[in-house]
Amino acid sequence: LTTRIGGDAANAWQILYRAAARQKAGEDVVILAVGDPDFDTPQSIVDTAVTSLLAGDTHYADVVGDVELRSIIAERHSKATGLNVDQDQVVVMNGAQCALYAAAQCILEPGSEIIIPEPMYTTYAALVGATGAKVVNVPMRPENGFQVLPEDIEAAISDKTRAILLNSPSNPTGAMLPRDTLVAIARLCQQHDLWLISDEVYSTVSYGKEHISPCGLPGMAERTITINSLSKSHAMTGWRLGWVVGPTALTEHLGNLALCMLFGSPTFIQEAAKKALTSELPELDAMKQAYRLRRDTLYSHLQKIDGIHCHLPEAGMFLMVDIRSTGLSSQAFAELLLDQFDVAALPGHAFGPSGEGHIRLSLAVPEEELIKASKRLAACIEHLRQSPEAQDQGQA
Ligand code: PMP
Ligand code: GLN
Repeated sequence: LTTRIGGDAANAWQILYRAAARQKAGEDVVILAVGDPDFDTPQSIVDTAVTSLLAGDTHYADVVGDVELRSIIAERHSKATGLNVDQDQVVVMNGAQCALYAAAQCILEPGSEIIIPEPMYTTYAALVGATGAKVVNVPMRPENGFQVLPEDIEAAISDKTRAILLNSPSNPTGAMLPRDTLVAIARLCQQHDLWLISDEVYSTVSYGKEHISPCGLPGMAERTITINSLSKSHAMTGWRLGWVVGPTALTEHLGNLALCMLFGSPTFIQEAAKKALTSELPELDAMKQAYRLRRDTLYSHLQKIDGIHCHLPEAGMFLMVDIRSTGLSSQAFAELLLDQFDVAALPGHAFGPSGEGHIRLSLAVPEEELIKASKRLAACIEHLRQSPEAQDQGQA
């Protein structure tokens, strides 16, 4: 077996697997460990896929994606960014995960470095590792609202740096990068001739603040690789439909990779994606409102608990809770919370050192479950206050 594919990204999900097994066995466990929308895919999208299948759309598709779908994506991207993008600058992939993996393969190689602010999404380390390149992390500190400081990025640039990867809105913190930070990072990319990978899968789940795609900043279109998908925006995680938008040299390279890696995405799913991206779907507004309500409800319940502090997410479907006052490591706290209080949350260390001392709660469950979870979390904190010996066993 190769050593490039490895790392402990998968370990983070052990809490989820344990909780899911208990829930399946009939136990009352609240699972806030995963960001998989609990909404159904809008019916008209499902109907389109079924119609397409019944009509015989079961053959190989264009390797880089159906041309009509790529045009639709190009048009939407142009509208959102002010750029003038055409379908040749779009490659359809099986979800943003696949797109991230493929983009990394196209621009990184053994010996090169990519700068990624952390806390970061759990799969980044492994997808970079698979290229033989190295992740250089810079911290986004909780004290600073989990924002990245451009000077930290600048200090991390070396002669091996090839790229910077940004994820705004962020999984896990829900923080969005403001324009001045993006402008400063864009300047660094141009000064040091770097690629910018922009993972924007939560761009539509914002609670008011404007999402800014860095590719639209001056001088960035030719060096930005924008990645998005239908997973979160349309509650379509299981459909595996995402895409890359970038300069033609990059998308041609990606096309070569797609030829030996994917050979195209399923045709009937691409038909459904066209429907998703060209329809006015009231379900999407309802989903957004539900996430907002859940965020506000969970935040207000958690704020009443002495001894923890929570970060109000500006976007996305997660909320980070600072549990440092308990003295426990995030792993010990998450295990205690699951084993004795029946709530599954991901330990913050899974996202990088700046996530330590936090747990990540998902908003992808009904409001009643969030209220139940916050009561159990309060009981867990109270238990720790009354039994300091539990703290001694799980020191951070
Ligand atoms: N990037 C981030 C930040 C994510 O949280 C996820 C998982 N939702 C992905 C990429 C992968 O998304 P997809 O389902 O489109 O592969
Ligand atoms: N992106 C989602 C999360 O962070 C789901 C990822 C997964 O199931 N691997 O929870």
